[in-house]
Amino acid sequence: MIYLDYAAATPVSAKALDAMKPYFSEQFFNPSAAYLPAKKVRADYEEAKNKIAHCIGTKGTDLVMTSGATEANNLAFSILHGNAKCLVLNTEHDSVLKVADIYNHELIKVDKTGLIDLKDFKNKLTDDVELVSIALANNEIGTIQPIAEIASIIRESRLDRLKRGVKIPLYLHSDASQAMNLIDISVARMGVDLLTINSAKVYGPKGVGALYVSHDVKLKPYLHGGGQENGLRSGTENVAGVIGFAAAFTDAKEHINGNRKKYTEMVYLLQEKLSHNSIIPQFLGNVKHKLNNFCSISYPGLDAERIIFKLEEEGIYVSTGAACAASKGQKSQTLTAIGLADEEINGSLRITLGTQTTKEDIEEFAAKLNEIINAEATRIGLKQENK
Ligand code: PLP
Repeated sequence: MIYLDYAAATPVSAKALDAMKPYFSEQFFNPSAAYLPAKKVRADYEEAKNKIAHCIGTKGTDLVMTSGATEANNLAFSILHGNAKCLVLNTEHDSVLKVADIYNHELIKVDKTGLIDLKDFKNKLTDDVELVSIALANNEIGTIQPIAEIASIIRESRLDRLKRGVKIPLYLHSDASQAMNLIDISVARMGVDLLTINSAKVYGPKGVGALYVSHDVKLKPYLHGGGQENGLRSGTENVAGVIGFAAAFTDAKEHINGNRKKYTEMVYLLQEKLSHNSIIPQFLGNVKHKLNNFCSISYPGLDAERIIFKLEEEGIYVSTGAACAASKGQKSQTLTAIGLADEEINGSLRITLGTQTTKEDIEEFAAKLNEIINAEATRIGLKQENK
């Protein structure tokens, strides 16, 4: 098997799995119980939260543990009052776009590489905006947004509102799900008030995530009950999951530099191999501001669905656009937002590398893909030429 869809799911690392195991069996106690073994589980849980928080430069008490990034993103929007407006990038994950739909919202444009259009953002940042939500890195083409610059525009706007006596507060949320393996995240450096993180993308278990909530931010809980997570997310804690997340994230953080180098070289190799074919793909995303493990491409005129089935027959797994959108037969939001035509979207593949990817995988994958592309092009009578 050659798996090249790490943006969709990462395997749980050996370290995370080992760390989790005792909490399914001998350490099964409810952390809220009053006896000693349960108190030990509580202490381990809090320590794991501290470790996760440390990875983004904050304290465990600033985190609300959730069932993943979807829940964390939804919770972030509970900050909105009445008819206040939110601004979201039009390349956000559905868990941001769909929740923004519930509120008074506007979409911020991106350029053809997926980078935020700062002029459009500034124009839309009117006095009624209370929340801005912009992912650190996009999940379809890997474009990295200049969050610190966006935060500084927000700070200026806050000061300006203060001077003019405008009472509506302004907050910045970012979804860092895809960026955690490759960007050294610090909430202070980013200047965010809310940050979503996701265990499932960082070699931890699925169904675990967290929302960082800065001190001055007041959220309204969706889940009511036992009052866990400072009353913001009731329900018995997912102790094993959180402990696995902490082990995985800590490990990933230590390997950021090595992985960046490894993926850059491999993506370069892949691009080179795909460029030495009679049909050359369009390379999508931003060359300078892109997650190093992403290679999103398009073969206009070809059918990406057919290509991935052909690859699957060879034991190779990649994705067309975003896995979620593709599985529902929807047109990719990001690829539409960057201005691709239908035939470019229909011919697009997302290839994402991970810790287990080898140079040999890349060589084998590139050779198979080139072969399939040439066969498909011949089948439909597409002109083959070296561009
Ligand atoms: N945000 C981004 C950027 C993602 O890539 C994903 C998952 O693909 C999510 C949110 C949702 O994560 P989950 O399904 O773990 O809740």
